[in-house]
Amino acid sequence: MNIIFLGPPGAGKGTQAQKICAALNIPQISTGDMLRRAIAEKTPTGLKAKSYMDAGGLVPDDVIIDIVRDRLQADDCAQGYILDGFPRTVPQAEALEGIAQIDKVVEIAVPDEKLVARISGRRVCLKCGATYHVSMLDGKTTCDACGETLIQRDDDKPETVQNRLVAYHAKTAPLVDFYRARGKLATIDGDGGMEKVFADILEALKA
Ligand code: AMP
Repeated sequence: MNIIFLGPPGAGKGTQAQKICAALNIPQISTGDMLRRAIAEKTPTGLKAKSYMDAGGLVPDDVIIDIVRDRLQADDCAQGYILDGFPRTVPQAEALEGIAQIDKVVEIAVPDEKLVARISGRRVCLKCGATYHVSMLDGKTTCDACGETLIQRDDDKPETVQNRLVAYHAKTAPLVDFYRARGKLATIDGDGGMEKVFADILEALKA
Protein backbone atom coordinates (compact mmCIF):
# COMPACT_ATOMS: atom_id res chain seq x y z
CA MET A 1 0.00 0.00 0.00
CA ASN A 2 1.37 3.43 -0.96
CA ILE A 3 0.24 5.94 1.66
CA ILE A 4 0.61 9.69 2.23
CA PHE A 5 0.47 11.27 5.69
CA LEU A 6 -0.78 14.84 5.53
CA GLY A 7 -1.05 17.33 8.37
CA PRO A 8 0.45 20.45 9.92
CA PRO A 9 3.84 20.47 11.66
CA GLY A 10 3.43 18.90 15.09
CA ALA A 11 0.32 16.86 14.18
CA GLY A 12 2.20 13.62 14.90
CA LYS A 13 2.81 12.50 11.31
CA GLY A 14 6.36 11.32 12.03
CA THR A 15 5.48 9.46 15.23
CA GLN A 16 2.45 7.76 13.70
CA ALA A 17 4.22 7.00 10.42
CA GLN A 18 6.96 5.24 12.37
CA LYS A 19 4.39 3.10 14.25
CA ILE A 20 2.31 2.26 11.17
CA CYS A 21 5.42 1.44 9.14
CA ALA A 22 6.58 -0.96 11.86
CA ALA A 23 3.11 -2.57 11.93
CA LEU A 24 2.88 -2.94 8.14
CA ASN A 25 6.61 -3.59 7.58
CA ILE A 26 7.00 -0.85 4.99
CA PRO A 27 9.49 2.06 4.92
CA GLN A 28 8.76 5.56 6.21
CA ILE A 29 9.90 8.17 3.73
CA SER A 30 10.28 11.46 5.56
CA THR A 31 11.50 14.26 3.32
CA GLY A 32 12.26 16.37 6.42
CA ASP A 33 14.56 13.61 7.80
CA MET A 34 16.21 13.21 4.40
CA LEU A 35 16.85 16.95 4.17
CA ARG A 36 18.20 17.15 7.74
CA ARG A 37 20.61 14.31 6.95
CA ALA A 38 21.66 16.06 3.74
CA ILE A 39 22.36 19.23 5.71
CA ALA A 40 24.37 17.34 8.35
CA GLU A 41 26.41 15.70 5.58
CA LYS A 42 26.77 19.03 3.73
CA THR A 43 25.67 17.54 0.39
CA PRO A 44 24.76 19.91 -2.49
CA THR A 45 21.05 19.27 -1.79
CA GLY A 46 21.59 20.01 1.90
CA LEU A 47 23.33 23.27 1.11
CA LYS A 48 20.46 24.30 -1.20
CA ALA A 49 17.76 23.36 1.34
CA LYS A 50 19.24 24.83 4.51
CA SER A 51 18.24 28.49 4.17
CA TYR A 52 14.62 27.61 3.35
CA MET A 53 14.35 25.22 6.27
CA ASP A 54 15.99 27.62 8.72
CA ALA A 55 13.40 30.25 7.80
CA GLY A 56 10.50 27.82 8.22
CA GLY A 57 9.67 27.99 4.51
CA LEU A 58 9.39 25.19 1.97
CA VAL A 59 12.29 23.87 -0.08
CA PRO A 60 11.70 24.47 -3.84
CA ASP A 61 9.49 21.86 -5.53
CA ASP A 62 12.08 20.75 -8.11
CA VAL A 63 14.65 19.93 -5.41
CA ILE A 64 12.27 17.87 -3.33
CA ILE A 65 10.58 16.11 -6.26
CA ASP A 66 13.98 14.84 -7.50
CA ILE A 67 14.81 13.48 -4.03
CA VAL A 68 11.49 11.64 -3.77
CA ARG A 69 11.64 10.29 -7.33
CA ASP A 70 15.06 8.73 -6.58
CA ARG A 71 14.01 7.37 -3.20
CA LEU A 72 10.87 5.65 -4.53
CA GLN A 73 12.97 3.65 -6.97
CA ALA A 74 14.75 1.81 -4.14
CA ASP A 75 13.95 -1.89 -3.71
CA ASP A 76 12.45 -1.43 -0.24
CA CYS A 77 9.59 0.61 -1.75
CA ALA A 78 8.30 -2.28 -3.85
CA GLN A 79 5.81 -3.47 -1.20
CA GLY A 80 4.55 0.01 -0.30
CA TYR A 81 5.61 2.97 1.85
CA ILE A 82 4.42 5.95 3.83
CA LEU A 83 5.30 9.39 2.52
CA ASP A 84 5.65 11.60 5.59
CA GLY A 85 5.94 15.30 4.71
CA PHE A 86 5.56 14.91 0.94
CA PRO A 87 3.76 16.20 -1.06
CA ARG A 88 3.48 19.64 0.55
CA THR A 89 2.30 21.67 -2.45
CA VAL A 90 -0.12 21.10 -5.33
CA PRO A 91 2.75 21.00 -7.90
CA GLN A 92 4.43 18.28 -5.78
CA ALA A 93 1.19 16.29 -5.68
CA GLU A 94 0.79 16.65 -9.45
CA ALA A 95 4.39 15.51 -10.01
CA LEU A 96 3.81 12.53 -7.71
CA GLU A 97 0.92 11.39 -9.92
CA GLY A 98 3.52 10.79 -12.66
CA ILE A 99 5.84 8.91 -10.31
CA ALA A 100 3.66 6.64 -8.16
CA GLN A 101 0.17 5.25 -7.65
CA ILE A 102 -1.08 6.42 -4.24
CA ASP A 103 -3.71 4.26 -2.52
CA LYS A 104 -4.64 6.30 0.54
CA VAL A 105 -4.04 9.74 2.04
CA VAL A 106 -4.34 10.07 5.81
CA GLU A 107 -4.88 13.61 7.07
CA ILE A 108 -4.03 14.00 10.77
CA ALA A 109 -5.98 17.05 11.94
CA VAL A 110 -4.94 19.06 15.02
CA PRO A 111 -5.99 22.66 15.79
CA ASP A 112 -3.24 25.31 15.46
CA GLU A 113 -3.35 26.33 19.12
CA LYS A 114 -2.30 22.80 20.18
CA LEU A 115 0.49 22.60 17.62
CA VAL A 116 2.70 25.35 19.03
CA ALA A 117 2.95 23.64 22.44
CA ARG A 118 3.63 20.27 20.84
CA ILE A 119 6.35 21.60 18.56
CA SER A 120 8.16 23.71 21.14
CA GLY A 121 8.50 20.65 23.42
CA ARG A 122 9.67 18.34 20.67
CA ARG A 123 13.10 16.71 20.81
CA VAL A 124 14.41 14.59 17.95
CA CYS A 125 17.08 12.03 17.21
CA LEU A 126 18.95 13.02 14.05
CA LYS A 127 20.33 9.51 13.69
CA CYS A 128 17.15 7.40 13.60
CA GLY A 129 14.41 10.04 13.29
CA ALA A 130 12.64 9.16 16.57
CA THR A 131 10.77 12.05 18.17
CA TYR A 132 9.90 12.72 21.82
CA HIS A 133 8.15 15.39 23.85
CA VAL A 134 10.09 16.86 26.80
CA SER A 135 7.15 16.09 29.07
CA MET A 136 7.79 12.36 28.49
CA LEU A 137 11.57 12.39 28.76
CA ASP A 138 11.88 12.88 32.50
CA GLY A 139 15.20 14.71 32.09
CA LYS A 140 16.65 12.08 29.74
CA THR A 141 18.71 13.49 26.85
CA THR A 142 19.38 10.42 24.69
CA CYS A 143 17.31 8.38 22.24
CA ASP A 144 15.67 5.20 23.60
CA ALA A 145 15.96 3.54 20.21
CA CYS A 146 19.62 4.21 19.35
CA GLY A 147 21.30 6.07 22.22
CA GLU A 148 22.09 9.22 20.20
CA THR A 149 21.86 12.63 21.94
CA LEU A 150 18.48 14.27 21.35
CA ILE A 151 18.29 17.82 20.03
CA GLN A 152 15.72 20.54 19.49
CA ARG A 153 15.41 21.21 15.77
CA ASP A 154 16.35 24.79 14.87
CA ASP A 155 13.04 25.14 13.05
CA ASP A 156 11.11 24.01 16.16
CA LYS A 157 12.10 27.24 17.91
CA PRO A 158 9.15 29.62 18.43
CA GLU A 159 10.31 32.27 15.95
CA THR A 160 10.21 29.73 13.09
CA VAL A 161 7.14 27.71 14.06
CA GLN A 162 4.74 30.48 13.06
CA ASN A 163 6.24 30.62 9.55
CA ARG A 164 5.85 26.86 9.21
CA LEU A 165 2.17 27.07 10.14
CA VAL A 166 1.64 29.87 7.64
CA ALA A 167 3.37 27.77 4.95
CA TYR A 168 1.16 24.81 5.86
CA HIS A 169 -2.10 26.73 5.53
CA ALA A 170 -1.06 28.53 2.35
CA LYS A 171 0.65 25.72 0.44
CA THR A 172 -0.18 22.31 1.94
CA ALA A 173 -3.76 22.54 3.23
CA PRO A 174 -5.12 22.72 -0.39
CA LEU A 175 -3.97 19.10 -0.76
CA VAL A 176 -6.84 18.04 1.51
CA ASP A 177 -9.30 19.01 -1.24
CA PHE A 178 -6.96 17.68 -3.94
CA TYR A 179 -7.05 14.16 -2.47
CA ARG A 180 -10.69 14.33 -1.34
CA ALA A 181 -11.64 15.00 -4.96
CA ARG A 182 -9.75 11.84 -5.92
CA GLY A 183 -11.59 9.75 -3.29
CA LYS A 184 -8.39 8.95 -1.39
CA LEU A 185 -8.71 11.06 1.75
CA ALA A 186 -9.30 9.80 5.30
CA THR A 187 -9.29 12.48 8.02
CA ILE A 188 -8.24 11.39 11.52
CA ASP A 189 -8.67 13.43 14.70
CA GLY A 190 -5.04 13.81 15.80
CA ASP A 191 -5.94 15.49 19.07
CA GLY A 192 -6.36 12.26 21.06
CA GLY A 193 -3.81 10.00 22.76
CA MET A 194 -1.08 8.45 20.64
CA GLU A 195 -2.55 4.91 20.81
CA LYS A 196 -6.06 6.09 19.92
CA VAL A 197 -4.76 7.99 16.90
CA PHE A 198 -2.72 4.92 15.88
CA ALA A 199 -5.80 2.66 16.10
CA ASP A 200 -7.91 5.14 14.12
CA ILE A 201 -5.31 5.30 11.36
CA LEU A 202 -5.07 1.51 11.11
CA GLU A 203 -8.86 1.36 10.89
CA ALA A 204 -8.90 3.98 8.12
CA LEU A 205 -6.26 2.08 6.17
CA LYS A 206 -8.30 -1.13 6.35
CA ALA A 207 -11.43 0.59 5.04
P1 AMP B 1 9.35 18.21 8.50
O1 AMP B 1 10.40 17.42 9.20
O2 AMP B 1 8.45 17.37 7.64
O3 AMP B 1 8.60 19.12 9.42
O4 AMP B 1 10.12 19.17 7.48
C1 AMP B 1 11.05 20.15 7.93
C2 AMP B 1 11.31 21.17 6.85
O5 AMP B 1 11.86 20.52 5.70
C3 AMP B 1 10.08 21.90 6.32
O6 AMP B 1 9.73 23.00 7.13
C4 AMP B 1 10.57 22.33 4.94
O7 AMP B 1 11.45 23.44 5.02
C5 AMP B 1 11.39 21.14 4.50
N1 AMP B 1 10.57 20.15 3.78
C6 AMP B 1 10.29 18.87 4.14
N2 AMP B 1 9.51 18.26 3.23
C7 AMP B 1 9.28 19.18 2.26
C8 AMP B 1 8.51 19.18 1.07
N3 AMP B 1 7.81 18.10 0.67
N4 AMP B 1 8.52 20.32 0.32
C9 AMP B 1 9.20 21.41 0.68
N5 AMP B 1 9.92 21.49 1.81
C10 AMP B 1 9.96 20.39 2.60
